[in-house]
Amino acid sequence: MHILITGGAGFIGSHLSERLIQNGHDVTVLDDLSTGQISNLAAIADHSAFRFVEGSILDRALVAKLVTAADVVFHLAAAVGVKLIMDEPSQSMLTNVAGTENVLDAALQNGAHTFIASSSEVYGKATKFPFQEEDDLTIGATKNLRWSYACAKTLDEFLALAHARESGLPVTILRFFNTTGPRQTGRYGMVLPNFVKSALENAPLIVHGTGKQSRCFGHVADVVEAMCRLMNTPAARGEVFNIGTDQEVTIHGLAEQIIKAVGSDSDIQLVPYEQVYPEGFEDMQRRLPDVSKLERITGFRPMLPLSQIIDDIANEMRLPLTA
Ligand code: NAD
Repeated sequence: MHILITGGAGFIGSHLSERLIQNGHDVTVLDDLSTGQISNLAAIADHSAFRFVEGSILDRALVAKLVTAADVVFHLAAAVGVKLIMDEPSQSMLTNVAGTENVLDAALQNGAHTFIASSSEVYGKATKFPFQEEDDLTIGATKNLRWSYACAKTLDEFLALAHARESGLPVTILRFFNTTGPRQTGRYGMVLPNFVKSALENAPLIVHGTGKQSRCFGHVADVVEAMCRLMNTPAARGEVFNIGTDQEVTIHGLAEQIIKAVGSDSDIQLVPYEQVYPEGFEDMQRRLPDVSKLERITGFRPMLPLSQIIDDIANEMRLPLTA
C-alpha cells in the first residue's frame, strides 16, 4: 500500500515510517521540519520505497496532491507540547485545525483511510477514571490558552467523524496518551527526555508543582504496533481509540526512578507552575486511559514498562558521548 504520513519526520511519525517500510509499504512523509528533524529518518532515507516532501499541511494544493495518491493517511503533523502551545497559541491552533481540514478535504476525493492523531488532552479536567472513549470531555476556560490544544484536537475528531457519517470516509481517531522513547526531544517541554538528560548530566530534575500529579507513559514501539494493527483491522473504521498504557507513575516518582536507573547524583527540585507558565495555568492531577477497546478490537495491549523506556532513552543519549 502507499501510505502518507504527515509529520513523519517527528518523533512518532519517524518510528511509524520505519516500521511501515519494514512491512513492505511505500511511504511518503510530508513535514515542514518545524519540530521534526530529517535525521530522524536517516535509517530509511535512501530506501527506494521512501519519499520525503518538505512542506506544510497548510499548503492545500500540496496536501491534495499527496493525499489523493495515498491509500492510507496517518495525519500526525501538529503543533505539539504544552510549552509550544503556550508560546505560540494562534499559530498552533491554525496548524491543528486548518491543517486537519486540508487533509480530510483531500481524503474525501479518493476515500483514503485517514488516521487522525488526537490526544489524551481532550479529556481535559475529567475526574472519572479511567478515561473511556465515550466519556464526556471537560475543557477549561478560554482565557486559559492551554485548553486551545485540547479544543483543536476535539474539533479535528468532530470533523473526521462528521465526514465518516456524511460521506462514509473511513477514519480512525487515535487518542495518544503520553508517548515517549528514543528521538523524542525535550525542547518543547516533554518531561521524560528532559529528566533523563538532566540525570545523565547530574543536574537537578525540575518537577513542576507538587510532583504528585501522575501520568502513564507508553513506549513509542508499542504505540506504533497499535497503529499498524488498527490499520489492518476493518472494525477500527469510524472508531475512537485510547492508545497508551495504564501503568501510572507520579512525576516525582518518575524523577526518582530515572535518577536510580541512570545512577545519577542529581537531586529533585520542585518549582511552582507560576514560575514556568503564565498565570492561571492548570495541570491535570491524573490522566489514566482505559485501553480495553484497543485490546478488544486488535488483540493488542501496550505493555512495555517504564524501566525499558528510561533505558532506551538513556542509551540513545549516551551514544554520541561514547561514539
Ligand atoms: P513531533 O513534534 O515530534 O511531531 C510532529 C511533526 O509535525 C513534526 O515533525 C513537525 O515538524 C511536523 N509539523 C508541525 N507542523 C507542521 C506543518 N504545518 N506542516 C507539516 N508538518 C508539520 O510530535 P509527536 O510526539 O511525534 O506527535 C505526533 C502527533 O501525535 C501529533 O499530532 C500530536 O498532537 C499527537 N500526540 C502526541 C503525544 C505524545 O505523547 N508524543 C500525545 C498526544 C498526542
